[in-house]
Amino acid sequence: MIVNPPYPLSPKKKPLRDNVNLKEEEVLDQTLRPKQWEDFIGQERIKRNIRIILQAAKERKEAVDHLLFCGGPGLGKSTLSRLVAQSIDSNIRIITGPAIQRPGDLAAILTSLSERDVLFIDEIHRLNKTCEEIIYPAMEDFKLQIITGTGPMARTLEIDLPPFTLIGATTRIGLLTSPLRSRFGATFQVDFYSGDDIQKIIKRSAGILSIAIDEEAITMISQCSRFTPRIANRLLKRIRDFAQVEGMEKINKEITELGLSALEIDEMGLEPPDRKILEMLIRKFNGGPVGLQALAASANEEQDNILEVYEPYLLQLGLIVRSPKGRMATQKAYEHLRINPKSKTQNTKLL
Ligand code: ADP
Repeated sequence: MIVNPPYPLSPKKKPLRDNVNLKEEEVLDQTLRPKQWEDFIGQERIKRNIRIILQAAKERKEAVDHLLFCGGPGLGKSTLSRLVAQSIDSNIRIITGPAIQRPGDLAAILTSLSERDVLFIDEIHRLNKTCEEIIYPAMEDFKLQIITGTGPMARTLEIDLPPFTLIGATTRIGLLTSPLRSRFGATFQVDFYSGDDIQKIIKRSAGILSIAIDEEAITMISQCSRFTPRIANRLLKRIRDFAQVEGMEKINKEITELGLSALEIDEMGLEPPDRKILEMLIRKFNGGPVGLQALAASANEEQDNILEVYEPYLLQLGLIVRSPKGRMATQKAYEHLRINPKSKTQNTKLL
């Protein structure tokens, strides 16, 4: 059972990839979210390890160890957390790090947990320092320590908490403090999916949404999905809109091509912001190396967006590399944008 929190789930910060309709995406996520392990495609190593952790906790009749999932947006971190809670027949409380501003808010949540509940903290790297300090004893000894008064009058009040499981999700493991990191029993890196797995996810989603689609179209959509289930699902839905407007009963290669080109997604799955970042890197900074700040300012993108969304995909495709001095465009990037490396100055024209 999912208990909805009485406070906003999302931070008031500019959302990542603010060019997408978040409300619609949330509904799509909910509709297509795997409700059982068999439907959770790929990430075999993670599933195997979680199964062992769950089994061991069950045998010991203890709460499941605290777990940390790290990886880019849309790769399945919250889906995995819900599946863990479901497997142990527990409630899951879902909160986001930046939404918890005051230690009192966190204390209220912790004291309302029941035995073996799962507390899921998304974007845990954005939890503030004072809240983080409350979390340490709660994770370690299931104790809530509250300091009342100040100076010589300060007293620590200790309240026992029921054994619970904290699951943290983060897109930026490097921003987690080491005391927090060390309190998780297991950390899982949720990686990009293989093309095969993305194709399976598209097929499954097409089935749920009753969308008829042929194999060629599935392959094309998977190639443009940034190896990410959420993006695969979103693209499938977008292309379905094009097919519907054209009066087509089945999504085929032609309508997929038309849709992808209307959405300005190229054959490598790059979208306009990806191409802009690459172009800036090549044209303005002569292919790099360039630091994040300068690149973000030139491409007019938030640094977090570059770090969490665009750069991992460009690295995965081998279009950029990172060196201690900054990002550099590779030969493949020049070829993809059809820019001659010999004339990579600011005024370079597309070949
Ligand atoms: P994250 O928490 O990492 O941002 P989510 O768990 O919210 O990602 O996943 C986004 C959506 O992608 C889910 O609603 C689900 O539809 C789909 N999805 C994610 N991982 C998988 C998977 N392994 N198999 C099938 N669908 C998946």
